[in-house]
Amino acid sequence: MSKRDYYDVLGVSQDASKDEIKKAYRKLARQYHPDVSEEENADEKFKEAKEAYETLSDEQKRQQYDRFGHAGAQQGQGGFGAEGFGDFSDIFDMFFGGGGRRDPNAPRQGQDLQYTMEIDFEEAIFGKETTIQIPKDEDCETCDGSGAKPGSNVSTCSHCGGSGQMNVEQNTPFGRVVNRRVCQHCSGTGQFVEEKCSTCGGDGKVRKHQKIDINIPGGIEDGQQIRVTSQGRAGVNGGPPGDLFVLVRVKRHEFFERDGDDILCEIPITFTQATLGDELEVPTVHGRVKLKVPAGTQTGTHFRLKGKGAPNVHGYGQGDQHILVKVMVPKNLSDRQKELLREFHELSGEDSLDEQHDNLFTRFKRAFKGD
Ligand SMILES: [Zn+2]
Ligand SMILES: [Zn+2]
Repeated sequence: MSKRDYYDVLGVSQDASKDEIKKAYRKLARQYHPDVSEEENADEKFKEAKEAYETLSDEQKRQQYDRFGHAGAQQGQGGFGAEGFGDFSDIFDMFFGGGGRRDPNAPRQGQDLQYTMEIDFEEAIFGKETTIQIPKDEDCETCDGSGAKPGSNVSTCSHCGGSGQMNVEQNTPFGRVVNRRVCQHCSGTGQFVEEKCSTCGGDGKVRKHQKIDINIPGGIEDGQQIRVTSQGRAGVNGGPPGDLFVLVRVKRHEFFERDGDDILCEIPITFTQATLGDELEVPTVHGRVKLKVPAGTQTGTHFRLKGKGAPNVHGYGQGDQHILVKVMVPKNLSDRQKELLREFHELSGEDSLDEQHDNLFTRFKRAFKGD
């Protein structure tokens, strides 16, 4: 059961933009949607395209897919281990038998770490400098990382013969794979410790918290990651450390919504304001801004406040704020208000509607004649 490459499924290149991916998916969805398509296997093809789109349209999932293929994509967002950290080395080993081919004593890069951080809507717009604490395992100072009580006896591990590695056979979807794994009895040290160090309980490692300064750039979007080089787990056998990835989740705002660098906002206005026109003060993340609503503004009219959006995270300009006007139909009117509206209705009839709406109105009446 080989799975097709997601980029191949959508027919886009590896460096396709979000828009290209969206367009390619829409095209396929129209072609294969089970409700409309008469093509063979339309159902499967639709599902395949949907799965590819769900991964490639999500920045984080796409990065994981690019780095780890289908195995990484399936990890998804909720798949991380305790404390929001996760690594893929086990899956990687399982599918590619990486451990079997590797020289266990060769220097290896430490594992990457992932940290999830939640920030406010405004913090995502303006950026934020903050400090995070991440747990890190460091060599125990009492025993220098050996796990043995200072001065006690240490002998060769009888399970692995001192190599620190054992062969483990595993059944995988790709057949039987022999993996070389770290010996559980000596944790890869190749030594048997007769008396354990009391500080670390024989692990040779103690957990410490390390403070790391994180600079979140203004304009960051929900789901984007910040890479902090060399702050992942320590390397093995003198290899370089891994990297730390900070996944940024942006909290929803009560009134504003992000669309890339632009901010969307819906503003309710009264029937009277829409009809007679008004000057409003509308909220933006940069403070209140005056907005002139002309007389005769329809519900759904869209205004643009240039430069009132988010800065581009890569430094390419500044987004706008888009305002969608929603005309509120008055409710719970007093008798006097009703009376005035009835009078207004009699005065206006159908003549007051402008030409475009008159046409729509007459067409509408024609279509539903006799109902
Ligand atoms: Zn051993
Ligand atoms: Zn110790």
